[in-house]
Amino acid sequence: MKKKILLTPGPTPVPTQVLLAMAGPSIHHRTPEFMAIFKEMNDNLKYVFQTKNDVFTFAASGTGAMEAAVVNLLSPGDTALCIQAGKFGERWTELCKAYQVNPIVIDVAWGDAVQPEAIEKALKEHKNIKAVFTTLCETSTGVVTDIKAIGQVMLKSEAVLVTDAISALGSIDLQTDAWGVDVVVAGSQKGLMIPPGLGLCSVSPKAWKLVEKALCPRYYFDLRTAKKALDKTDTAFTPAVTLCIGLNEALKMIKAETLEKTFARHQRLSRAVRAGMQAIGLKLYAKKPADAVTAVCVPEGIDGEKLVKAIRDDFGISIAGGQAELKGKIFRIAQMGYMNEFDIITGISCIELMLAKMGYAFERGKGVGAAEKELLA
Ligand SMILES: *Cc1c(COP(=O)(O)O)cnc(C)c1O
Repeated sequence: MKKKILLTPGPTPVPTQVLLAMAGPSIHHRTPEFMAIFKEMNDNLKYVFQTKNDVFTFAASGTGAMEAAVVNLLSPGDTALCIQAGKFGERWTELCKAYQVNPIVIDVAWGDAVQPEAIEKALKEHKNIKAVFTTLCETSTGVVTDIKAIGQVMLKSEAVLVTDAISALGSIDLQTDAWGVDVVVAGSQKGLMIPPGLGLCSVSPKAWKLVEKALCPRYYFDLRTAKKALDKTDTAFTPAVTLCIGLNEALKMIKAETLEKTFARHQRLSRAVRAGMQAIGLKLYAKKPADAVTAVCVPEGIDGEKLVKAIRDDFGISIAGGQAELKGKIFRIAQMGYMNEFDIITGISCIELMLAKMGYAFERGKGVGAAEKELLA
C-alpha cells in the first residue's frame, strides 16, 4: 500500500473540510445561495490579501492572473521593469513581450533576491517605467523578496508595484495596502489550500487609473468587465463554482487561525526544515530562504532527479526537483498551506531514508532530530 503525500510547492494538500465542502451537488451561480458564498469569499479574500481593494477571481491558473495584470495595466510600446531572480520572475518578462510591452530586466543571480536600491536606480534612469513586476516568493529558488522595502523606494514613483504572491499568499506576510502594493497576484493551489484552477488579483485605486487607459488586447481578463459584475456581487462569466466554495472554506480556516498565527506556523515549520537539512550536511540554496518552500542543494555524487523520482516511486511522497538550470541540482520541499509538524518530519525523514539508500554518508535521524528540536524551541 502506497499512501500518497504531497509536499510540492503547488499543488498542496487540501484540508478534509474543504474537500467535503466541494463534494456537494453543483449549484447554479446566479442564485442567492451562490451569491452569499461569493460575498463571504470576497470579504475573506480582502482579509487574507490585507487590503481594502477589490480582489478579482478568474477561472485560470495563477499565470492567468499574471496575464490579467499585464494586459490591464499596460499598452503596447509601454515600458515595464521586470525583476528576474528565477523561473517565475522570467514569466513577467515573457508576458510583457507577448503583449509588445518593453521589459527592462533586472537580472538577479538565482538564489539571491533583488536589492531595492537597484529598483530605485532603474526608476531614476528610466522615467517611462509604468509598472514594476516582482515576485514575493520565487518558488523556483526558494527565495523571499523584501516587498516592503521595494514599496518604500517606490513611494515617490508614478509606476505601479505588482507582486506575484502565487506561492506566498497565506504563507508569508504581505501587507498589500500598508506596503503600497498596487496589484497582488495569487493562485488557488499553494498557500490557499485548494486545488488548482483559480487565479486572483487585487487592484489599487492607483492601478485602476491604468486599467482604464490600457490598450493591450483583453477580453476574458478585462478587469473593467469583471468590476462591473463584482460591484453587484456577481461574475461576468461562469465562475469556478466548486473552487469558490472550497476557497471560502479555506479562507475561513485561515481567518480562524488568524493571519498572524498562520505566518508564525509557516516560519516555525520552515525553520525546522532548514535545521533538519543542515544537520545532515546539506546546504540551503536560497540566500534569503522563504517561509513557504525550502530549496536544498543536492549533495555531491547524488543524482537529484533520481532522488526526487525514487522518493515518489518508493514512498509515494512528492517533493519537487529543480527547474531549468537547477534541474538535478536542488530539491524543494513545501511548507505552504495545509502543513503541520508531522508533514515536515515526513519530508525530512523521506529525504534521509532515500539519501541513505543512495549511498550518501551521514548520521541517520540527525535531520529529524534537529527539526524536532527546532519545533520544540
Ligand atoms: C506556481 C507559481 C506560478 C504559476 O502558477 P500557475 O498556477 O502554475 O500558473 C507563478 N509564480 C509563482 C511564484 C509560482 O509559485
